Amino acid sequence: MTSVLIVDDSRTSRRILRDILERAGYSVVGETINGKEGVEQYVKLRPDIVTMDITMPEMDGIEALRIIKASHPEAKVVMITAAGQKDKMLEAVRIGAEEFVSKPFVEETVLEALEHCTKVD
Ligand SMILES: [Mg+2]
Repeated sequence: MTSVLIVDDSRTSRRILRDILERAGYSVVGETINGKEGVEQYVKLRPDIVTMDITMPEMDGIEALRIIKASHPEAKVVMITAAGQKDKMLEAVRIGAEEFVSKPFVEETVLEALEHCTKVD
């Protein structure tokens, strides 16, 4: 079973993502509310995939992505984006984000992004 860590400061976003992923057979092994905890939980849980919100307090998703990829280049990170974040998206691509999913969530798009992560090395 593919394990997923959800990193997002929005309780609603975390709940929607968890519902979509669990219905599709993914195992959501953790949820954290900022990038700092996201990095800590990534190291601890070593999930197959991370969904990473961009805008979060304490440490944003770009910084968390940078830290995770620096020590674990093989990490599969799906960035969760909102409107008007093109510059951040480009930065995330440069750092090595695997996929992007925009809010509000469309179930099919979320699952396509995660599916893609399971197929690349
Ligand atoms: Mg956010």
